[in-house]
Amino acid sequence: MIQDIGPHKLDNSFNPRPPREGDYILIYGDEKVMMCAGEGEGGSGAGGGGRAGTSGAGAGGGVGAGTSGGGGAGAGGIGAGSVGSTGAGAGGVSGTGAGGAGGVSGTGAGGAGGAGALAASSLLLPRYEQLESLAPSALDGGGPLYLFNIDANAFYYTASGTLAEDELRRFTPMPMGSFRTYGVKWQAFAGITACHLAGWYERRRLCGKCGEVTKQSTKERMLECPGCGAMYYPRISPAVIVGVTDGSRLLLTRYANRPGTNFALIAGFCEIGESVEDTVRREVMEEVGVRVANIRFYKSQPWGFSGSLLMGFYCDLEGSDAITLDRNELAVAEWVDRGDIAVTDTSISLTSEMIETFRRGSDI
Ligand SMILES: [Zn+2]
Repeated sequence: MIQDIGPHKLDNSFNPRPPREGDYILIYGDEKVMMCAGEGEGGSGAGGGGRAGTSGAGAGGGVGAGTSGGGGAGAGGIGAGSVGSTGAGAGGVSGTGAGGAGGVSGTGAGGAGGAGALAASSLLLPRYEQLESLAPSALDGGGPLYLFNIDANAFYYTASGTLAEDELRRFTPMPMGSFRTYGVKWQAFAGITACHLAGWYERRRLCGKCGEVTKQSTKERMLECPGCGAMYYPRISPAVIVGVTDGSRLLLTRYANRPGTNFALIAGFCEIGESVEDTVRREVMEEVGVRVANIRFYKSQPWGFSGSLLMGFYCDLEGSDAITLDRNELAVAEWVDRGDIAVTDTSISLTSEMIETFRRGSDI
């Protein structure tokens, strides 16, 4: 899962220090994260061709090299369409070294070499030293906010609104979801966790009681209001993921309005006044209309994509297996036998790990 970053280690104790060379800066606003072409990270692996973006044609095959840090090679592409709205991106942007072949871009044809690599693995969170040179204004007014450490590297947040427009253009705004394909796994976890916190800072800029501008406490990760003394702590929304089993069958779902997504499990947020076991029973009943028993905890997952803490449970069908689908939530829900479930990549989500764990017949 995305939080499994060993041997790296998240240290979320609140011990702010001024940023220094090598630290990471999350430039964040409106659920977008500013990223830049990789320098010093070396990208990851070479690439071959790639699928084209929404508008670019482009076969891939650029071989870029990082400017330093060991010759990484961004290359090959996933689509430029995911980078921005303008379609195919520049080939060979990765670093200043050997340039990626490919092309240049525009929306027309042409080999869009490196662009996709940017989306997949070469676009990185900026380091402090890059931001300092590009946008000193962002460091005014107390500087970026300390978020947490992973190993010796600290992560900071600054609002994208603190950067001048011409400075902002040096970066590529990426949706939070891009951390699913980010090249360096421990940084992907750091990035999405930083987004969770940054989104909270963004929405809690003003006190909800009196409207004053809130301030980060010097003692703990808390925003306090100088006007009325209200205190605000980071918001985490508990939610459940539920694997409903019936012998060798697992209840798999697909969300409505999300075409192309993989199979999922029943899922939903805890409501006020509920235990998580209540949430499990309620969500299963609401979404598919069956009753469950023998609810047992599996694992949990911090899930910054939705500001959640996900709690995974397996449980057994009780009574009728007839599904009554909530079509507002789900497009499909069906019982699938263990032998008919496809192998699932378990590197990101708890949902995928739970499906794969069941498929393998592990003790659950
Ligand atoms: Zn207030």
